[in-house]
Amino acid sequence: MTKQFNSKGDLAHNGAPPAFRDPLHVGRPNIGDRDHFLQFADEILKRRWLTNDGEVVRSLEKEICKLLDVRHCIAMCNGTIALEIAIRALGLKGEVIVPAWTFIATAHALYWQGITPVFADIDPATQNLDPVSVREKISPQTSGIIGVHLWGRPAPIQELQALADEYGIKLMFDAAHAIGCTYNGQHIGKFGACEVLSFHATKVFNTFEGGAVVTDDDELAEAMRLMRNFGFAGYDNVVYPGTNGKLTEVCAAMGLVNLNSLQNFIECNRQRYEAYLGALNGVEGLKLISPCGTSTPNYHYVVLVLDQQLAGQRDELIKTLHAENVLARKYFWPGCHRMLPYREGAPWEATNVPNTDDIARRVLVLPTGSAVRLDDIFTIAEIIKCYLAN
Ligand SMILES: *Cc1c(COP(=O)(O)O)cnc(C)c1O
Repeated sequence: MTKQFNSKGDLAHNGAPPAFRDPLHVGRPNIGDRDHFLQFADEILKRRWLTNDGEVVRSLEKEICKLLDVRHCIAMCNGTIALEIAIRALGLKGEVIVPAWTFIATAHALYWQGITPVFADIDPATQNLDPVSVREKISPQTSGIIGVHLWGRPAPIQELQALADEYGIKLMFDAAHAIGCTYNGQHIGKFGACEVLSFHATKVFNTFEGGAVVTDDDELAEAMRLMRNFGFAGYDNVVYPGTNGKLTEVCAAMGLVNLNSLQNFIECNRQRYEAYLGALNGVEGLKLISPCGTSTPNYHYVVLVLDQQLAGQRDELIKTLHAENVLARKYFWPGCHRMLPYREGAPWEATNVPNTDDIARRVLVLPTGSAVRLDDIFTIAEIIKCYLAN
């Protein structure tokens, strides 16, 4: 079967060179002003203050508080440790409800705190937690809910808060995808007891590796600061069995530099999202997930959802894209509940999350961001259209 994607040649797997000489990755890092960063790094070396609550970390925390309109930002070495520390500081135990459709770290952070993640299903229209499924999963052991703002789209914040209040359990959010997004005019970061950010290299805003918990709760913030630094309350005075969750100065410098460019990164993403939307407009059998009305997005993930009748071709479409050096991903296939650590053994092996199972078969995430040119997007769309036409 010969597949043409343009007038010039066959698709790569038929012997022609790939459409792109250099691979286009999902999640290529956004990098702000290099000179500014290098100057910053030089100053840090001159000061010989590399970590431990340094001035650059403090000013990054202050800037994030300003940006998100929160009282406290506790910067951490990565988003996963930030999740663990938030989970511990909130006193979660027993069982905690999370979506089955999320990055595995949401579940692992609970597991590492000796807590059973209980997987709830998603609403297929939003790919976020379905409050009806959450209610079904609440048991006498449930101590909390972690909502995830998947793809930067807000979780059903009000419904989850109402459930948490009704059952007297805690609610926190994994906002790893959602820096720069708003919900009803408020920044993501202000909801639940606290929200956790990831500043990993692949996220819209990065500090190489890094993360933070943001909260308006003074006591919770204090507890997390202690936990982040081995439980030290002062010299020679350990008051809690803490861990090491500290962010380094050079990472924080990357953060301050990238924060200056965050609006540019988001604008760049928006243009690429619009380009995909235009180029794939009218193509039968697929759609891009769109921003929801009550929210401003950061457009960091371009998520293509195939219709039911195309579900069986998703993997072949990905193979075709890969052959052209378009390294699309099938995040978060096959869902947390089907990953080895969670599918084996009680009590969560019998998870019933049909919408997650369905969406997991039909999603692919396309390359975007500053490393992808607008022109490239038309070529990617041509590859997809050509695949579907054959
Ligand atoms: C990236 C991510 C995390 C983990 O953050 P790291 O900084 O990589 O540890 C957690 N949850 C979600 C939804 C993520 O996408």
